[in-house]
Amino acid sequence: MILPEAKLYVDGKVRQAEGGKTYDVLGPWTGEVVTKAADASAADVEESIAAARRAFDETDWSTNHAKRFELVKKFRDLIKANNDRMVQIARVEAGAAIGATYAAHVNNAVDGMDALIDLFPEVKWEEDRGRASAMGGKYLSDRKIVYEAIGVAAAITPWNVPLYVNLGKVIAGLLAGCTMILKPAPNTPSAATILGELALEAGFPAGVFNVITSEDPAMAGELLTKDARVDLVTFTGSTLVGKKIMENGAPTLKRVFLELGGKSANIILDDAPNFAMAVASSMVVFHAGQGCAICTRVLVPESRYQEALAILEQAYAGFADKWGKFDEPTSIMGPVISKKQMDRVLSYVELGQKEGARVLAGGKARPDKGGGYFIEPTCFVDVKNDMRIAQEEIFGPVLVVIPYKDDEDAIRIANDTTYGLSGMVQGSAERAQKVAKRLRTGSVSVNGGMCIAGDLPFGGYKGSGIGREWGREGIEEFLESKVIATGVPA
Ligand code: NAD
Repeated sequence: MILPEAKLYVDGKVRQAEGGKTYDVLGPWTGEVVTKAADASAADVEESIAAARRAFDETDWSTNHAKRFELVKKFRDLIKANNDRMVQIARVEAGAAIGATYAAHVNNAVDGMDALIDLFPEVKWEEDRGRASAMGGKYLSDRKIVYEAIGVAAAITPWNVPLYVNLGKVIAGLLAGCTMILKPAPNTPSAATILGELALEAGFPAGVFNVITSEDPAMAGELLTKDARVDLVTFTGSTLVGKKIMENGAPTLKRVFLELGGKSANIILDDAPNFAMAVASSMVVFHAGQGCAICTRVLVPESRYQEALAILEQAYAGFADKWGKFDEPTSIMGPVISKKQMDRVLSYVELGQKEGARVLAGGKARPDKGGGYFIEPTCFVDVKNDMRIAQEEIFGPVLVVIPYKDDEDAIRIANDTTYGLSGMVQGSAERAQKVAKRLRTGSVSVNGGMCIAGDLPFGGYKGSGIGREWGREGIEEFLESKVIATGVPA
């Protein structure tokens, strides 16, 4: 299946890159070219920054809330009307299996967009802070706080669930009144360029929204991060690049918002309501484990460790022929995104064995599934939390199983990581709540609760990031506050 060419959207025009340069995008299922994308030059990036700056400084985009709201709603309607194209892009370009496409990739992205739009009327633009006296009561002031868009925002996004991340940033930023430049990962340009096309169709003023694609993973992002005309960078990706963005943004004191990696723990207590189900569903298979908030460490009680391993062995055996099928409607696991990612995951499988962990299931590449990048669902047992496979983000279909002694031990192990994105606790109600409160993470699911949704703030503690995306908080990330105090005549 071949997707239409992915083009830039700059200053209100959908166009090719300077000199018509393109690059090939390889599909994860086949390893073959699935589309060509515009390969932006530094001059193209420069033009997008200038356009976004102009649109912010010289139009009423940031101040005309009603007009902006109508345009964003029109954009939303066009996105929904193009659902089939979004589905095709998620499958072909991001390698999503059909079951994952109709969950995180497209449906959750669209639901999240709706949630942000529904929250818009709750955003406060002005707040009265009352009359107060100063200087020993000599002077009175009427004070208010005005909230306004921060300015030009650059959104730099990863390849794992591209539409979801793109919409989380773009819809929130546009609703807040920012003008934006979206820079997707080189592997997944179409999930961004389709938004450019639809913004044009929606009739956005030129420069309000721009999309830049480029084969070089760093060039465009670095230009955006270093440029003084860009006020904020909202980034989702690896912790390593997140740190680089902070560093590169420091000379211009850039506001940075970072959604980074994770190594989240799923704590199964010995009184979990359905122990077998809790253990079996801890398999890391959804979208081949390429999700930052997936719980990739499962913590099981020592007292039920052997029982847990038997359950997992059976669960993995039962899943053996349920993945890697492009046309299977119920499948939730396909390939990983690229050869580079496949090699990275396989190197961790090798490392885990060297570190002394035992492979309970999987562990091999599966070229028989197709010409793309297939790795078996893999489960390591007898893992100690200080092993690198328990500390580092693998971003593939790899679960590590770690035994613990008691609740305190489980909490200690769960928090013994540089990350702090998400987590799960399964157990009797009160006990599970107590454990959940002790986890140093931005979200926790208790007994199957859904802690990630478009109307809830999402983000991490520690090495998992700074700031919150989605929810009302996600829109407010793009705002500045200004105090206006007006003197009251004596
Ligand atoms: P990555 O960090 O390599 O790239 C992310 C984006 O940053 C891409 O668009 C890339 O082109 C760009 N980039 C690369 N170098 C840059 C630089 N020097 N300056 C500016 N931009 C630069 O991540 P990835 O490989 O695309 O995605 C996988 C990683 O993303 C995983 O670590 C995963 O955990 C993380 N992730 C986190 C979340 C979250 O919400 N916390 C969501 C999805 C993915």
